[in-house]
Amino acid sequence: MAEQQIPNLDGNFYRNLRKYYPTVDRGEGVYIWDTDGNRYIDGSGGACVVSIGHGVKEIREAMLKQADRISFAHGSHFTSEAAIECSEQVVSLMPSPELNKCYFLSEGSTAIETAVKLARQYWREAGKPDKFKTISRWTSYHGNTAGALALGGHTARRRHYQPLILHTPHIEPAYCYRCSFEKTPETCNLECADALERMLKYEGPDSVSAFIAEPVVGATAGALVPKDGYWQRIRAICDQYDVLIISDEVMAGVGRCGQNTALDNWNVVADMVVMAKGLSSGYIPLGAVVVKEKIWETIRRGSGAFVHGHTYSMNPLAMAVGAAVLKYVKEHDLVRKAREMGQYLLEQLHTLRNLEIVGDTRGIGMFCGVEFVRDQTTKTPFDPKLKVNAKVFQAAFQRGLITYPGSGGADGIQGDHTLICPPFIITREQVDTLITLLREAIETVTQELY
Ligand code: PLP
Repeated sequence: MAEQQIPNLDGNFYRNLRKYYPTVDRGEGVYIWDTDGNRYIDGSGGACVVSIGHGVKEIREAMLKQADRISFAHGSHFTSEAAIECSEQVVSLMPSPELNKCYFLSEGSTAIETAVKLARQYWREAGKPDKFKTISRWTSYHGNTAGALALGGHTARRRHYQPLILHTPHIEPAYCYRCSFEKTPETCNLECADALERMLKYEGPDSVSAFIAEPVVGATAGALVPKDGYWQRIRAICDQYDVLIISDEVMAGVGRCGQNTALDNWNVVADMVVMAKGLSSGYIPLGAVVVKEKIWETIRRGSGAFVHGHTYSMNPLAMAVGAAVLKYVKEHDLVRKAREMGQYLLEQLHTLRNLEIVGDTRGIGMFCGVEFVRDQTTKTPFDPKLKVNAKVFQAAFQRGLITYPGSGGADGIQGDHTLICPPFIITREQVDTLITLLREAIETVTQELY
C-alpha cells in the first residue's frame, strides 16, 4: 500500500484535515477491504466497537425484517416489539436483577450524559437535592459532547474547549504501570481507590451524586486494568457515602472484557451501567443506560417523568439490530470466546516486550493495549511531537492491520499507546498474523526514531 499524502478534498469534514483516508468497501469476519482492493485485519474492531465480526447475515436479516415493518416511530408515542426484546436482552446480561431498566440512545456520549442527569434527578426526588456533583478520574474518557468531555480526564481532548461546562472533581486513575502514588503491585494498598474517599471529604459527600469511571480504561491509556480489590473498595466507599456508581462500559462492556459486564470481573454491581459500541457491534448507532430499579422507581413515584429525551431513543430499527446482536453473542458463546482468545492475544502481545520501545502490554478479555516508551527502565515517554502513536498506526495500516491509537500520551505524562481489541471471533492464526504485523510496524518505527 503506497503512503498517500494528499488529504481527501471532498465535501466531508474529516477528523484529521491533513490526512488521506482510503474508501471503505466491505467487511467480512475480522477483515475490511477498501475500494483499491487492500485487505486489513480489523485489529481494533474500529474503535473497540465490532465484537461479532463484519458482515453477519443474521443482523442484516433482522434489520431488513424491521425495516419492512417500520423504521421510525417516536419514543414518546410508541414502544415497539423490538424495543421490548432489546431491553430483555440487555437486562439478561446484568449481574443483578436490580439492574432492570434500560434507557436507549444513539451512542456513548449521550448515554453518559443521560446517566449523569438520571443520577441528579434521582437524588432530587429522593429528597437530597444538594447531591449534584459527579466525581470522575483523570486519564479517562467519557465522550465528546460538552458534558461528557468535562467528566472525562482526557487532557488532549479537553484542552481546546476549556473552560468546560461542568464542575467535575477528578481523582487519580488506577494506572498500575505509572502509579501516581509511586507504589508497586507489592506495596499497593489501593491508594487510588482511597483517593475517592478523600475527594468525597473535600467536596462534601452530601454534594456528590455519583462516581463515574471506566472499569478498564480504554481510549486514554490503552486498556488499564485495575488491581484486584480496586472496584470492591470503590463500591464500599460509595455505599458508605451514599454515592451512585456509574460504570462506563461503552468500550469495556458487552463481553469485551470476557464477562457480560466488565465489572463482573470483580463481582461488583454498579448502580448504572452505560453501554454502546459492542451493544450493536457497530451495525447501527446505539447506546444504553441500564439503571437499578430503585432509581426508576424513585422517579416514577416522585415526579413521574424523566425530563429528557432524544429523537432516536428506542428507534425501532436500532432496537431490532441491538436485540439481534445480543442474541447472536449468546448463541455463539462469544463472551467466552472473548475471554479465552483474549488470553491468547495478551500472551502474544507480551512477546512484544522485547522490542525497545514497548514499555507495557496489558489487558483483559479482548481488550488489550500497548504503551510505548523512550526508555523501558525509566518509563520515560516519547516527546509527543514525535507522534510515535500515529507512526505505529500508519506503519501497521500500510501492512494491512488496523489498530486504535490513543491520544492520551499527548500530555507528556504517560506514554503513547494503542488499543488492540479485535472482534471476538478472531482465530489463533489471525491473532498470530496480527502480532507479526504489529511487531513489524513497531520495528519500522523504532528504526525511524533512532
Ligand atoms: N465512554 C467511553 C469509555 C468511550 O470509550 C467512548 C468512546 O470511545 C465514549 C464514552 C463515547 O462514546 P461515543 O463516541 O459513542 O459517543
